Amino acid sequence: MRSVWMQKMAKKEMIKPLLGNESEIHHCDLQKIDVGILGTGDFARSLAARLACSGYGVIVGSRHPKRTAALFPTVNEVTSQREAIGKVNIIFVAVNHEHYSTLSDLKDVLTGKILVDVSNNMEINVYEESNAEHLASLFPECTIVKAFNVISAWALQFGARDGNKQVLICSDSQEAKCVVTEMARNMGFIPVDMGSLSTAKEIENLPLRLFPSWKTPVLLALGLFIGFYIYNFIISVIHPYVVKGQNKFYKIPIELVNVTLPCVAFVMLSLVYLPGVLAAIFQLRNGTKYKRFPRWLDQWLQQRKQLGLLSFFCATLHAIYSLSLPMRRSAHYKLLSEAFNQVKNERENAWVEEEVWRMEIYLFFGILGIGMLSLLAVTSLPSVAGSLNWREFSFIQSRFGSAALVISTLHTLTFGWSKAFDSAQYKFYLPPPFTIVLIVPCMVLVAKVYLFLPFVNRKLTRIRHGWEANRQVKFCEDGDSQFSNDHAENTSIV
Ligand code: NAP
Repeated sequence: MRSVWMQKMAKKEMIKPLLGNESEIHHCDLQKIDVGILGTGDFARSLAARLACSGYGVIVGSRHPKRTAALFPTVNEVTSQREAIGKVNIIFVAVNHEHYSTLSDLKDVLTGKILVDVSNNMEINVYEESNAEHLASLFPECTIVKAFNVISAWALQFGARDGNKQVLICSDSQEAKCVVTEMARNMGFIPVDMGSLSTAKEIENLPLRLFPSWKTPVLLALGLFIGFYIYNFIISVIHPYVVKGQNKFYKIPIELVNVTLPCVAFVMLSLVYLPGVLAAIFQLRNGTKYKRFPRWLDQWLQQRKQLGLLSFFCATLHAIYSLSLPMRRSAHYKLLSEAFNQVKNERENAWVEEEVWRMEIYLFFGILGIGMLSLLAVTSLPSVAGSLNWREFSFIQSRFGSAALVISTLHTLTFGWSKAFDSAQYKFYLPPPFTIVLIVPCMVLVAKVYLFLPFVNRKLTRIRHGWEANRQVKFCEDGDSQFSNDHAENTSIV
């Protein structure tokens, strides 16, 4: 009973046009040219609906037109593949790459037509040649354009409001590319000319990439987390167990994570600003901004946004973990024991003035630091960054970001207070973690102060305005890294 009902519902849903309602499509009377679509799958349906909404006449070519016609709104004509191709000059091939060869019977009618290859693969570089080039080799009498593969069926339906808007286009025919570019624009997308058909492989690999720019920063954050976690585990759990026989294993899920997260956040934040300092030192040493940075530095500079956002993520988690600390049963028991001991020792007042001040200042810097990091993260969003001019953006990311690093350093220093000079803090002769995490940020801050000295700053500013120590522009042959530029100074999270 239920399955019959579900089948009916599914059929009803399939008949519904994917974009808006049918009357909406009828009302678009911007009649442009007729285009064809081969295939009646998810992509073809979304594409047909969007094309119709953009004023194009759509003729769908199917192997089984009678069966599939109901999947499309009546405004779209659904017919046989051969008939559809015969009526149009531009045809979207919404068929999977594996089935291209089954279209070879249509070679005669396809001659001279523009074929738009929208296909993607399941894996990166699965075939030697791109799908578009494969289509071109099967139909040499046709003009092939690669386009729309980076747009999902979902984005085709909601593209103007939601999802990716860029349509990457490439072809060996400039005219065919222009036609498809115009169509993409009319459909509410942003066409991007990627050049000749040889770039099709690159375009086909794009939708398959999984956060390529995040790989190194995420691995680094994970590595730091594991390293600091083990270090804290040795100091806070293993040491009391070995030396005093105390069971502190309950610290594993919350307390250890909470002391590890700020270590990662702090080091990651300093790594956002370190490459900018190194770039400045390179420029000072070379006496020019026209010499290429080493490749590793170029890549590091490009990943500052990811490093900064991961730092913000860890800092936010640290704040949430810290707020939840008093909720734990272990905290309740500790508090009760302390109160009991106080009563037993007849101590009326537990107030320690120095501790009170340390905690107040520590929290003050912590709250301020996370607030500043939030602002840096928000301004790294493309929509927010787009509303700022370069000077505003650079001010927030560079000056404000450095201030956030100073505040975070003060937060760590007030946490440590005088503990760094207390030998009891050095468990197994290991320095407390907060002293270790201070190394990189302090190096960055000292270097920034040095670069800010008037005679150094003046020289750096001149170099960044094109001055050269030996007055000759030198082009270094070194690898394929980019030229250094003024933006190296800006430790942007974007
Ligand atoms: P699909 O649902 O599997 O539809 C493929 C269509 O190809 C079928 O409906 C079929 O229509 C037609 N076809 C023609 N010859 C065929 C054959 N020999 N065997 C099987 N089917 C044949 O695929 P899709 O999701 O719509 O994707 C279509 C193309 O768009 C693919 O190349 C895909 O990589 C690309 N694409 C899809 C998306 C997406 O979000 N789905 C996004 C970007 C790109 P008839 O039976 O009516 O002929």
